[in-house]
Amino acid sequence: MHELSIATAIVEQAEEIARADGTDRVTTVTVRVGELAGVVPDALHFAFEVAREGTALAGARLVVEQVTARAWCGGCAAEFDVGMPPFFWCPSCDRASQDLRYGRELEISAVEG
Ligand SMILES: [Zn+2]
Repeated sequence: MHELSIATAIVEQAEEIARADGTDRVTTVTVRVGELAGVVPDALHFAFEVAREGTALAGARLVVEQVTARAWCGGCAAEFDVGMPPFFWCPSCDRASQDLRYGRELEISAVEG
């Protein structure tokens, strides 16, 4: 399960951040997950419960902030939602755009101890 390796990486990074802050126990870790990051939030929550065992995050809560996938259209200088499944076509000026600005995020945005 690929979410397990992601959850393990999140736990390791959050432990490092907590240590740098002088905290040895994490209560909440918040991650930003893009719509196109290829991560299933339910699977990530499940994997997190496994990955956190025996770590500083043993009692921590995982908060997943979903980021809507949006692309930029140079033709009309506007952003648009690409949707899910993604459709890279500007609805305003009716032309193709592959310039994805948001939606591939997979990062820790906050660690609270
Ligand atoms: Zn456009």
